[in-house]
Amino acid sequence: MNELLGRRLPYTIHFDKLTEDFCLFPAVIEHNTVIHCMRCNTKTKKEFAMLPTGAFYCPSCIEMGRLDTRLQLIHQAEPPVKKRPVRMEWHGKLTSAQKEISEDLSQSIEKKRPHLIWAVTGAGKTEMLFAGIHKALQEGQRVALVSPRVDVCLELYPRLQAVFPEEKISLLYGENQTAYSYTSLVICTTHQLLRFYQAFDFLIVDEVDSFPFQGDPKLHFAVSQSIKKKSCLTYLTATPPQKLLKDIQKTFFISQLPARFHRRKLPEPELIWWNQWYKRCQTGKKLKKLLLVIHQLIADNDVLLFCPSISLMKKLFLHLKKERPDLLIERVHASDKRRKEKVEEMRNHQFRLFLCTTILERGVTFEHVSVIVLGANHPVFTKSTLVQIAGRVDRKGDYNFGKVYLIYDEQTSEMKFARKEIKQNNQLAMKRGLIDEL
Ligand SMILES: [Zn+2]
Repeated sequence: MNELLGRRLPYTIHFDKLTEDFCLFPAVIEHNTVIHCMRCNTKTKKEFAMLPTGAFYCPSCIEMGRLDTRLQLIHQAEPPVKKRPVRMEWHGKLTSAQKEISEDLSQSIEKKRPHLIWAVTGAGKTEMLFAGIHKALQEGQRVALVSPRVDVCLELYPRLQAVFPEEKISLLYGENQTAYSYTSLVICTTHQLLRFYQAFDFLIVDEVDSFPFQGDPKLHFAVSQSIKKKSCLTYLTATPPQKLLKDIQKTFFISQLPARFHRRKLPEPELIWWNQWYKRCQTGKKLKKLLLVIHQLIADNDVLLFCPSISLMKKLFLHLKKERPDLLIERVHASDKRRKEKVEEMRNHQFRLFLCTTILERGVTFEHVSVIVLGANHPVFTKSTLVQIAGRVDRKGDYNFGKVYLIYDEQTSEMKFARKEIKQNNQLAMKRGLIDEL
C-alpha cells in the first residue's frame, strides 16, 4: 500500500491491514478554551466546534472531510530517493534571460534553497521550470506543481503530460473524484497539500500572489508542512505582494525577469477619468465616453471589458447591446455554465466586446485584445489584479497596438502601484537589453 507515503490522512478502518511502519498523530488537540487542528493548524474556540457527541471538530478544513478530537491522522514517510531515467519531450528554445533563471533554479534544487521567480506576465515562466522538474525527477525526488486556482492546474496538467509523456501525473483538486495513487509528479491546488506531509523535495507554487493563497494562513501552512525538511520551495509570480517580498527577502534566492519572451515592452495602463462611472453604467444614461473608448479600441482589436461586479456587468451588458446592436457582445462570470465555451469562442474572435469579471485576470491568453478596466478604483482591483489584467494585452502574435485603459473617478494607491510596477519592469528590461524598440 503506497497511498499513505508522504500523506497525512484520517485513520480509518480502511488502513487496518497495515504492516509497514507508520505514525499516528492526534487529529485535533483539545486545550482549555480552544481546539487546535493538526491538519490545517487552525485554532477554534470550543463553543464554535462542539459536536452532539461531546467531541470537538475543526470547522476550518471541513470541506476536506470532518476531523474531530476522537480521530487520529496516519502518515507514512516517503521512501529514500533513488535515481532513475525520465524522458523529457520539449524542443522549444529558452531566451538567454529565461535560460539564466532555469539554471538558477537547477542550482536551488541542488542546494535545496528556497527560490522566488518574479517573471512578468507573458514571460514564459512554465517553460523555465521544465529542466528543473526533469532534473529533480531524475534524482528520484518527488515534485509538486501547485496553484491556488483550479483553472491554472487544469491548464498545467496537459502541458506537463506532453513534456513528460512517460510520467504518471496526479491531478488533484476539490471536485476531482479520481482515486488517489502515488506518483512522483503531482499537480494540485494548494488546498490539497493539507493531505500531504513532508512529501516533496521540490515544490513550486504558481500564482503565489493570487486569491485565496494571499491572506489565508491555512494555505501557507499547507505548503510549509507538505515539503521535506530539506527541499526546494519555489514561488512563481508576475507581481509579488510587498509583504511577501519583505518576508522572504533574506531567505529566498530571487530571480527577476522583467521582459516578455517576444522582447516587446509591457503595455502601460493609461488613465481615463470618467465621473460617476458606477451610476452611469447602472442607469445606462450618459455612456458617451465609454462608447467612444470602445469604438476607438475596437478598430484595432477585440476588447475585454473588466467589470467590478456581476450585477453591474449584467446591467451594462444590456445597455451596451442597446447602444451598439451592430457589435458582437458577450459576457461571462465565474458561475456561468457556458464559461469555458464562451472563453473559447472569444479566443476564436467570435465576439468583438467581451464583458467579464476578474475571473479572466490571469491564466488565459487571447490574441489581439485591448483591455478596459471599468471602475479601476473599485476595491476589487488590487495592484496584483491590475498588473495581471494589463498583462492580457500583447501576449502573442504580431504587435497590434493593444491598449490598457483604466477608467476611474478617483485614483487609488493600488492603481498607482500597478502602473509604477509595470513602468519599473519596462525600465529594468530596457537596461538589461531584454526589449527592442518598436
Ligand atoms: Zn482543520
